[in-house]
Amino acid sequence: MKTIGDRKFISADEIKHTTRLGMGACRGKRCIKRLKTTLAPKGIQIVGDATPRGPLSNQVSMGELYPKDVPETYITGVNGKKARIEKIPVLIAGGGMAGSSLFRYMADAGLKPVLLNFGRGASWRNIAGGRTAFSLPEIAEIAEMNHKIFQDLHAYSNIDYRPINYVNFAHDEKTLKALEASMAWSDAFMIEPKDFQKEISPFMNPKLSTYIAAQITRGCWQATPGKTIDLLRKMGIAKGGTIKEDCELISIHKNGNGFVALVRDHDKSYVEYHADNFVNALGPTGEKYTRQLGIYTGIYPVKHQAFITRRLPWMGVNGDPLGMLIDRRNYKGFVAVYGQQLAETGQIIGCASPAVDPREADKNLKYNSQDFIEIASEVFSGWIPQLSSVGFQAVWAGYYVEPRMFIDTKHGLFTGLRGQGFMLSMGLAKMYVDELTGKPVPEYFKRLSLEGDGLPEKAFK
Ligand SMILES: Cc1cc2nc3c(=O)[nH]c(=O)nc-3n(C[C@H](O)[C@H](O)[C@H](O)COP(=O)(O)OP(=O)(O)OC[C@H]3O[C@@H](n4cnc5c(N)ncnc54)[C@H](O)[C@@H]3O)c2cc1C
Repeated sequence: MKTIGDRKFISADEIKHTTRLGMGACRGKRCIKRLKTTLAPKGIQIVGDATPRGPLSNQVSMGELYPKDVPETYITGVNGKKARIEKIPVLIAGGGMAGSSLFRYMADAGLKPVLLNFGRGASWRNIAGGRTAFSLPEIAEIAEMNHKIFQDLHAYSNIDYRPINYVNFAHDEKTLKALEASMAWSDAFMIEPKDFQKEISPFMNPKLSTYIAAQITRGCWQATPGKTIDLLRKMGIAKGGTIKEDCELISIHKNGNGFVALVRDHDKSYVEYHADNFVNALGPTGEKYTRQLGIYTGIYPVKHQAFITRRLPWMGVNGDPLGMLIDRRNYKGFVAVYGQQLAETGQIIGCASPAVDPREADKNLKYNSQDFIEIASEVFSGWIPQLSSVGFQAVWAGYYVEPRMFIDTKHGLFTGLRGQGFMLSMGLAKMYVDELTGKPVPEYFKRLSLEGDGLPEKAFK
């Protein structure tokens, strides 16, 4: 402690070592704040911050970290209360679009699946679009199969399905060529800027000079994700499946030919599921659990922001809702800005893909960067100037899982669905169950396995 004149000063670091003050050693900022208040009336001021030491000893050896063939032990109960054990044929972990689709088809096949879900992932945060416009013919084929499933589902019960057009703007020759090539396997046509008002929306900006052409793909669609998931789950339950909502997978390990999954139930009790089959459909957190089974996929979450406007009259051609419009420029930190008008409410729902994927990957879901709102406003009001006076109803974020899909019956994987999981999950789940039950699947399905290349869509992500 220093004394200057009649004033006394003590450094935050000194506080950690002093017991004279009768407060014990203390590092936390809150403690220091409390000390400041206590000491001020005594004429003592605290200066500077605490400077905690770097750790001088780590009580862990390399062998404990790698190789890691001994699973962690979880102590689940106090007073000797043990987790109850349930034997089941199939456990699906994760109940988003992926897990719920699998649930439906597994129940259809008589597999009596149990589906666990805890929280709400990208499946409740996406912008509800389905397209057949892909630069890979195999993905376009899977998308077409999904489109049919969406139609059938809607005929069974309302999911707000509606066919729409996808409008891909070409801002340079390279994009134009990729779009032209995809027309070999898509129901699409190309238009010039002079026809934008006639073919896209009568409200399109006549002065727009950003694009050299636009490709319009028919056979695309929208539907409400929440309604779709609920319906898939209902169908699965009707065929003998069980949903365990608000139930968290804690750990998973192999036991002979089967699996042991420790699960925290919604009443905070623990259940140990002994399952013959296990599928990881956990979205962004999938990797944590595949590693517990010794599988390394290398998937990672990428934050994607989205917005929805207030209600609007339908703004497309012939008084229809506006289709999905997509700008694929690498511009101001984003590589695509896109959005469509929801027929049910007239709201425009949109999204932007960040150019530097991992940059924002670890940010909080509630965080919405100003960059995103700015680019969305610039691009959308560039297309339709009248939109500049329309308010945002909400802005939010969710996670895409990159860099590739893993759909693999041998390893129990249904993850990595990128920006296409709402539109593709049902068809992929059907193929998964077909392969599992010995039915034929397309040749390209094996490219989605751990050993395959994941059918990587690069040009039209
Ligand atoms: C802003 C945005 C817009 C998008 N737009 C589109 C679009 O227009 N069209 C399209 O096709 N795709 C779109 N996507 C992508 C699509 O939403 C995803 O590909 C899809 O939802 C992935 O589904 P999933 O079931 O794999 O993952 P998720 O939806 O994340 O489901 C995984 C589930 O597992 C749960 N979970 C996690 N950990 C545990 C645990 N330990 N125990 C139990 N449960 C757990 C999660 O809470 C979650 O409910 C968009 C995504 C975002 C973020």
